[in-house]
Amino acid sequence: MAGSSTDERNAAGEWRPDGAIALAPINAWPPAPKKVAKWALRFPGFLWPYNAFWLLIAVVAWTWLTPSLAQMQTLEVWWIALIFARNAALILTCFGGVHLYFYVFRRQQDDLRYTTRPFAKGSRRFLFKDQVLDNMVRTLASSVPIITAYEVATYWLFANGYLGLFDFGTNQALFWGWFALMVLLAPFIHAVHFYLGHRLLHVRWLYKTVHSVHHKNVDVGPWSGLAMHPVEHLIYFSTIVVPWVLALHPLNALYQLHLAAFLPALSHSGYDKLKVGDTLEIDGGSHFHYLHHKYFDCNYGGSLLPLDRIFGTFHDGTEAAQKQMRERLRERRAALQSS
Ligand SMILES: [Zn+2]
Ligand SMILES: [Zn+2]
Repeated sequence: MAGSSTDERNAAGEWRPDGAIALAPINAWPPAPKKVAKWALRFPGFLWPYNAFWLLIAVVAWTWLTPSLAQMQTLEVWWIALIFARNAALILTCFGGVHLYFYVFRRQQDDLRYTTRPFAKGSRRFLFKDQVLDNMVRTLASSVPIITAYEVATYWLFANGYLGLFDFGTNQALFWGWFALMVLLAPFIHAVHFYLGHRLLHVRWLYKTVHSVHHKNVDVGPWSGLAMHPVEHLIYFSTIVVPWVLALHPLNALYQLHLAAFLPALSHSGYDKLKVGDTLEIDGGSHFHYLHHKYFDCNYGGSLLPLDRIFGTFHDGTEAAQKQMRERLRERRAALQSS
């Protein structure tokens, strides 16, 4: 397999994909409609399975694992507990499943894995001196209650008619058209919100007190994805505020929340792709975000939108980008010293 054999690793056991990281083709100039169509419509691609799969999970959760809005008009323990249990089960299945696949069953061995360094054990940086256990506890004990709280607030607010800026009356075509537009926009809303929240978390005092918890994971695994300080969970999942304002249906809000909740499992997997059989390769670990964990001051967003490129923090994984980043940091240090 090209670019995937362990003998291409450096002395530190690191491997990186060939070539520079490319942004999604929607960012190309001049526009490249053929590439965009291929990127969006081919399998595996942007629409299917990456976003449609999570939409499907949200539809299933909404249809069969969520009480009716009428029942959720008043806050009651039974339905809040139901949503909490459903979220805990989904998170455990998604993050645990990816962890088992790569690191327990070793289905890909070290093929397309960024580093062969094992997860930290005996390190005081982590709760119980164990990286995986630390990451699991932070995910299950903090992210699940916060996701649930946001979701419960959403349903209660919707059920009581407090949400939604727009009202299309009884026009079903407009209602479902708006619903579909919100679905299509959800990954972009996620990308912009994640970038802004992440930049905020790198402000010195917020970084020290909050975001440094996530950055303890220099080498990442699936459970590192949501291993965050509770305040970071509050900021990260506040993406749901956008559908609070714009959406007409609670499913839009649930989908937005699910994207934020589940995408980090694969994007922190530590593997560039998840291989199924001999032919199917699902884009997985984002080398883009892996470099953020490795070098810290680059790639605050994702590769869907050009935000890092616009703000001068894009690292495409090449030697040239590495040099550029060092130069930027040197200039910043010099400016700090002279001020
Ligand atoms: Zn960060
Ligand atoms: Zn991360």
